[in-house]
Amino acid sequence: MTDHYDVIVVGLGGMGSAAAAQLAGRGLRTLGLEQFTPAHDKGSSHGDTRVIRQAYFEDPAYVPLLLRSYELYADLDRDDPGLFVETGGLMIGTASSGPVAGSRASADTWGLPYEMLDSGDIRRRFPTFTPSKNTVAFFEDRGGFVRPERTVTAQLRRAAARGAELHFQERVTRWAATDADVTITTDRGSYTADKLVITAGSWAPDLLADLALPLTVERQLLFWFHPIDGIEPFALGRQPIFIWETDGGMQLYGFPALDGARGGVKFAFYRNGSAADPDHLDREIHPAEIDLMRQHLAEMLPAANGNFLRGKACMYTVTPDLNFVIGTHPQHHNVVVGAGFSGHGFKFVPVVGEIISDLITQGSTHHPISLFDAKRWT
Ligand SMILES: Cc1cc2nc3c(=O)[nH]c(=O)nc-3n(C[C@H](O)[C@H](O)[C@H](O)COP(=O)(O)OP(=O)(O)OC[C@H]3O[C@@H](n4cnc5c(N)ncnc54)[C@H](O)[C@@H]3O)c2cc1C
Repeated sequence: MTDHYDVIVVGLGGMGSAAAAQLAGRGLRTLGLEQFTPAHDKGSSHGDTRVIRQAYFEDPAYVPLLLRSYELYADLDRDDPGLFVETGGLMIGTASSGPVAGSRASADTWGLPYEMLDSGDIRRRFPTFTPSKNTVAFFEDRGGFVRPERTVTAQLRRAAARGAELHFQERVTRWAATDADVTITTDRGSYTADKLVITAGSWAPDLLADLALPLTVERQLLFWFHPIDGIEPFALGRQPIFIWETDGGMQLYGFPALDGARGGVKFAFYRNGSAADPDHLDREIHPAEIDLMRQHLAEMLPAANGNFLRGKACMYTVTPDLNFVIGTHPQHHNVVVGAGFSGHGFKFVPVVGEIISDLITQGSTHHPISLFDAKRWT
């Protein structure tokens, strides 16, 4: 006899923990299966902080999803105050750079408030930055950060409180769907359910091999530094989250100082990574990688360029157009997929949970998800 559930969620990282919490909240008998421990650091949802912002420079089509995500994050923050913090968000570059021009286009499309700053304004208001003359910034009050480990933990707690069964350190090795149900095989046993959710992050290419999605896994790094004159100039309340596109087209981003002097200040590049295998990720931070970050800090935020405190490797699972894959599996009406979050998914975690739950319980969602169609490459 195998145990039978209404729905099984494979992968309890950012997206899967959100889906499990929402599905259990809708009264479904839910089983969540995760190969590692709760809120682990071996996938894509760890490293203290994630940028969240509304005026999405990548594409204005994401804005309605972000507005809903803000509501859901505010609700989650009630379980663990400080999980979601609005610091203001500064998008820096030339006037025509993606972060500046794209944020402006998105804000204008949706009527979101913002300010434009020239390089003198930036230096006066945010003295940790040293922009050159032709550098400008788009400032959005509602930009901020969320805490990924605390988000996953809060969502898992909600899922369990709503009756979901959650199994950790249990790896799914196989799944199969018929018209009537789905069967999941793990390294510990097998289960059946009416429906299946696959939110496997960087392991999605394995579990969704049948779909042959064009997903690439990339190793990406996070760096924490102790600023030269202490953390005060970077303190929460003074330092906003920022994304700065260099003339070379690299994006450097960063956060305020958190968790005292030992916490340091975190910086990263968006997509300066190399191809990776999720089961054999190089987790070491190499001297040349620290040097590259130092070179950028020296030019852009020189006060941050003090002692290197620590680094962390993480993975992106990237699609060719950098848009997500969310929807019902093209061959199986009872399987829903969330994958390919392309290094910018965390700010959407709770709304993705809501979309997946809509697709499982109603077969459709009122959220705009046409950008995310799994069939767009066929
Ligand atoms: C360095 C870095 C910085 C980022 N910065 C930002 C940012 O500032 N803002 C932002 O919005 N986004 C950011 N992102 C992206 C965001 O964090 C990801 O898009 C998001 O975490 C993806 O969530 P996920 O649930 O798809 O993956 P994960 O959280 O990795 O979850 C997948 C889970 O599935 C489990 N799993 C896989 N296969 C199996 C199996 N066979 N059996 C059982 N369990 C399985 C894994 O163990 C894992 O726990 C960043 C990502 C990284 C790496």
